[in-house]
Amino acid sequence: MFVTTESINLNWLVELINEYSDLTRRAANESNKQYPELHKRPDAPAVASALNQGELIEAANRLLAVFAASQDPQAVAEQLNRLLAHGEPRLTAVVNDGVERCYLIDPSRSPLVVASALVLLDFVETNGIERLGCCAANNCADVFIDHSQRRNKTYCSQTCQTRERVARHRRSKP
Ligand SMILES: [Zn+2]
Repeated sequence: MFVTTESINLNWLVELINEYSDLTRRAANESNKQYPELHKRPDAPAVASALNQGELIEAANRLLAVFAASQDPQAVAEQLNRLLAHGEPRLTAVVNDGVERCYLIDPSRSPLVVASALVLLDFVETNGIERLGCCAANNCADVFIDHSQRRNKTYCSQTCQTRERVARHRRSKP
């Protein structure tokens, strides 16, 4: 199975982690919520299409660990190495439009997790680990990619930001 680092959409990956990981679902009190069929969407990577719910949950739990470690470069590297070691992707040259870099991943060894780890490694190498984050709001553990210019995003969404502001305001009242 060949995977390029462009073959996994980061926004899709973030959604997978937030919708499927045990931690994010528990934090949002959504443990019993139905799992959306993200792997069947057009923006889903090909490596995800054949996975069942249990495999998607496992992948989300594993990948969340990289975001959870994002305060510490050493921890991020360790988490990525742990995921990469699982599949031992092999760097390969393939001919597409021209000669391109590609990774060969054994389909029986969590290719979604391994390919995602490659994508995340590529991303943090280019953009820095401070671009990965976990929501600071109560009742939310969602992960996010910080696209803000000041790299200071604290909450996963406007909803969480507003909710926290309201809660802070209430707490400050005598
Ligand atoms: Zn949030």
